[in-house]
Amino acid sequence: MGLLSRRTLLLGVGASAVTAGSAFALPRLFRPRDPRPVTAVVPITATTDGAGVALRRAIGAQRLRMLDPFLLLDEFKSESADDYIKGFPNHPHRGFETVTVMLQGAMEHRDSVGNHGLLDPGSVQWMTAGRGLVHSEMPRQREGAMWGFQLWVNLPARLKMTAPRYQDVAPGSVPETDVADARVRVLAGHIARTEGPVRGVETAPTLLDVSIPAGGTFHADEIPADHTVFAYVAEGELAFADRKVTAGNLAVLGPGRTVHATGAGRMLLVAGAPIGEPVARRGPFVMNTDEEIRQAYADYKSGKLVEG
Ligand code: FE
Repeated sequence: MGLLSRRTLLLGVGASAVTAGSAFALPRLFRPRDPRPVTAVVPITATTDGAGVALRRAIGAQRLRMLDPFLLLDEFKSESADDYIKGFPNHPHRGFETVTVMLQGAMEHRDSVGNHGLLDPGSVQWMTAGRGLVHSEMPRQREGAMWGFQLWVNLPARLKMTAPRYQDVAPGSVPETDVADARVRVLAGHIARTEGPVRGVETAPTLLDVSIPAGGTFHADEIPADHTVFAYVAEGELAFADRKVTAGNLAVLGPGRTVHATGAGRMLLVAGAPIGEPVARRGPFVMNTDEEIRQAYADYKSGKLVEG
């Protein structure tokens, strides 16, 4: 809570002191109602994956194995081609969804279902692996900056063997809106009456790319109270209900009705409905039981994984 908010509390003015502004600007003496607190701050873990891509893992490493329904969050960010040029050649997935958010640089996706996607800066790709596919994710550049994220979202048991589905969203199809002082790119879910282009996902995800200028505020009350929520701070330093979180850290946000952030920085704000089922995972497969994992490897070996 900032100095202004403390004064607000003391004066007992609260949110009633509304000033003129746009529909989504906050009153000058705004006091957030029941903001979600930071319950854990998880630093990224440096690792490699694919054919040798340098990654920063925020979910899926030892510090935070998963955050139901989220199984993995990787940030790839480098100016050096050595860190990304080998890419992710053909590999299988089954039982969950992979989401790629590109901020800088370009990647190319091809899969065994026949999808072909060009991931340009600003784009998002939501791939439901379902019963299985084999895909490659390779850089489309030989030099320069590459920056993006990959998020894995679980599927419930009844959808793990669903048909694969691919949502490829070009940069121009990602709407932007102002929320309080923040500029927000809405990739999935909705905020300030702006709806993201990714649709029909079981866990009803919210995926926002939020940039807050120095001294600014972001506030959201659209995220359902029973959803899991985290913020990955990608740049700068942001505070959530008084707790400061610097770039390269993931803040798990606990129970509350609103997400309130202040400071100067950029974050990926992510929410989704928890699934609450047992999770068995190994490599590129995420199922409910070890037997289903063994079956996934057997199906991959025999070619059944991609036959549908
Ligand atoms: Fe993959």
